[in-house]
Amino acid sequence: MASAHPDLVCQDLTKDFDAFRAVDHVSFEVPQGSFFSILGPSGCGKTTLLRMIAGFQSPTGGDLRIKGKSMIGVPPNRRPVSMVFQHLALFPTMNIGDNVGFGLRQRGLAKAEIKTRVGEVLERVGLPGVSARRVDQLSGGQKQRVAIARCMVLEPDLLLLDEPLGALDLKLREHMKVELKSLQAAFNTTFVYITHDQSEALVMSDNIAVMNKGRFEQIGPPHAVYHAPDTPFVAGFVGEANKINATITAINGQMMTLATAGAEVKVQRAGADLAIGQDVQVFLRPEAIELLAADPGDALNVCRGVVDTVLFNGANSSVTIRDDRGGLLKVALPQTGSFASLRKGDTVFTRWQPDQARCYPATKG
Ligand code: ATP
Repeated sequence: MASAHPDLVCQDLTKDFDAFRAVDHVSFEVPQGSFFSILGPSGCGKTTLLRMIAGFQSPTGGDLRIKGKSMIGVPPNRRPVSMVFQHLALFPTMNIGDNVGFGLRQRGLAKAEIKTRVGEVLERVGLPGVSARRVDQLSGGQKQRVAIARCMVLEPDLLLLDEPLGALDLKLREHMKVELKSLQAAFNTTFVYITHDQSEALVMSDNIAVMNKGRFEQIGPPHAVYHAPDTPFVAGFVGEANKINATITAINGQMMTLATAGAEVKVQRAGADLAIGQDVQVFLRPEAIELLAADPGDALNVCRGVVDTVLFNGANSSVTIRDDRGGLLKVALPQTGSFASLRKGDTVFTRWQPDQARCYPATKG
């Protein structure tokens, strides 16, 4: 992911709180004008990392450069960075114009210039003419846009966003994902966005860093993180996955044969570190599994099973199939097709292709 002109470069960035290492030698760079998400579960160190970029927290080790300049020791107000918080932190007693112009007033700009710039930025976020309104006269989505306008009016090199959609209801969150992405593209400003919600990261990002226990496990574009996860953690955290424990019984060229509790399966070989006799975990996306009404004969990775649950969720159904030995397999089933009326207790056959599975050495615990 090396870029000729990265806006942000972090090198071995580390933060210890006494004996606890919250951020552990994290290195990455963010190209100018891109949307970069840091995705991970609660407590993995996302906020601590973002606060180091903003300057609210100083690193224990490593370097952090914005536009080529080291920010170590530079206070937050001297960094070309602005931040949108989860609860937006708009001032309820000020009107919208004063909220948006707050940073410019602090910088001592003339009233007339502040007015012009506030008007311009409100127009760019799609809220022309709201300057005189109070904060409580805006909808949740409009408040989000005001919070972004208040940052963007300062023309930062980096906009940091700390789970800004977390407090919104589902419908508005879906809408704001699209809106945030198009605002980022329109401003052509580098956004660094932290979230524990994989769907937000997948929809909006040019690149996603998946964080676990203070470290980045993978950095890549959404499709790579989803379809080619580097680690079992990434495979399990981003999207849904069936996890099957197995042992390698044979390796022939690019194909491996595995013994599972249910049956023998074949998967494409991935990584040179896999050997015969080794215990592995196989990850399989629900949408990679096909349902068949009858046994196709000698086909690979076919298993007979009985439908355990069918959860209708609009465009798809989420179906769980219990195989002959009691293992459960989750399958995503499109509504159109011959299985639209599938019911609990129906007998079906599952099939998946060897190149659809990701195989990792088994981890302890
Ligand atoms: P969440 O999504 O819940 O906000 P997060 O991924 O943002 O989680 P952080 O807030 O960065 O995680 O916290 C990472 C770890 O560092 C946590 O275990 C937290 O308890 C710890 N931590 C954070 N700040 C401090 C602090 N000031 N002193 C001691 N430990 C801290």
